Amino acid sequence: MGDGVLQGITARLRSSIRENDTLYRLGADEFIIVIENVQHKDELLEIAQRIKKDFSFPFCFADHELKIDCSMGIALSSLAEENPTNLLKCAESALRHAKDSGLGSYCFYIDGMEQENMKQAEIENQLKAALLENEFQLHYQPIVDLRAGKLVGVEALLRWTNSQLGSISPAEFIPIAERSGLIIPIGEWIINTVKDQLLEWEKLKIDLFVSMNVSSIQLKNPDFLDKFCHVISENKLNPAKIELELTESILLEQSPHITESLAKLRSLGIRISLDDFGTGYSSLTYLQRFPLNKIKIERSFITNIETQKDSQAIVSAIVAMAHKLDLEVVAEGIERPSTVGYLKQMSIDYLQGYYFSPPVVADSITQLVLGSKVESLLMAVSSNQQPNIQT
Ligand code: C2E
Ligand code: MG
Ligand code: MG
Repeated sequence: MGDGVLQGITARLRSSIRENDTLYRLGADEFIIVIENVQHKDELLEIAQRIKKDFSFPFCFADHELKIDCSMGIALSSLAEENPTNLLKCAESALRHAKDSGLGSYCFYIDGMEQENMKQAEIENQLKAALLENEFQLHYQPIVDLRAGKLVGVEALLRWTNSQLGSISPAEFIPIAERSGLIIPIGEWIINTVKDQLLEWEKLKIDLFVSMNVSSIQLKNPDFLDKFCHVISENKLNPAKIELELTESILLEQSPHITESLAKLRSLGIRISLDDFGTGYSSLTYLQRFPLNKIKIERSFITNIETQKDSQAIVSAIVAMAHKLDLEVVAEGIERPSTVGYLKQMSIDYLQGYYFSPPVVADSITQLVLGSKVESLLMAVSSNQQPNIQT
């Protein structure tokens, strides 16, 4: 049957290319098409689109209908200085990019892709040993209850310092950890580290919730829910002290397993936030369909809210809608006291940002709580700041 599939694919590819083009099978499920005498890039685009369309119809083998996708990486010989080995490398780099952006797509090679791929491969390689080498650390960023005027929780943010690559931003390594599946053991380490921290704060009578970012790969993992619940029950953690932050892309997947897991987590008393709201799809049906407690408005709407009318309109609409749906609202990315002053007038529930504190090690959070530093920063706003509200 495997041979039959390969023959079927070959037949479709052959029918999509032109008379003088050459089709090779490189091995396994990889093919190469050499296309000569190309006057314009658009000709390649046409062939790629034709192949894509041909693969949109199912393949039929021995009474089975199979849906087979293909990804394509396209490289032009002029870019590779006429060297076939380089040309192939460029096509492979473009293919990797096409695969990353979703099955069934194609991608042209552009300068620098190879270096980027090599860097990503190096990051993945180093990530594999990072847990064993103890290279991760959690930092915590304060979340302030605006009405109560106090620090009530923290967001746990992962930090990685590697002996060879130095310190790497989570925005760079988390997607690689997700793609490689390494996010599963890393996520388990995060849950355990947060558990230890919650127990330590409990001993010190420090009353904070911890919000953790979880990715869809973690939530889809069949063991996630059991392991997570086990950590909570084994250590008698108060579920009200744990929150999970999801990004919209998780909800977009519409996986019944994810919906069930979220419902179970909610029934245990764990709170769920929708992170970075306002940038992605921001579909309002998520707010209705999923058991959410909070939405976190994306930083870009908050940073200059005092002066930007568009952001003001968007944020006040989000707040009004969220409150009507019984959802609480967190504003992320507060860097100046004037922003706090402005947001006070908007009935925002929670604030988070560099103005209060960047993400810091747990001991610094303990010091912040004991010194009531965040509360003094909030007081400073109410006494000195006369917010200039534009409506
Ligand atoms: P996020 O969850 O939206 O986290 C907020 C990001 O904004 C953090 O960046 C934080 O340091 C930054 N930030 C907070 N306040 C301010 C501010 O006032 N101004 C500015 N300019 N930035 C501010 P960070 O730590 O680099 O994390 C980036 C993203 O990486 C996170 O976005 C989250 O999506 C992901 N990430 C971080 N840690 C984890 C983790 O443990 N697990 C997973 N799955 N993702 C994580
Ligand atoms: Mg977050
Ligand atoms: Mg966020």
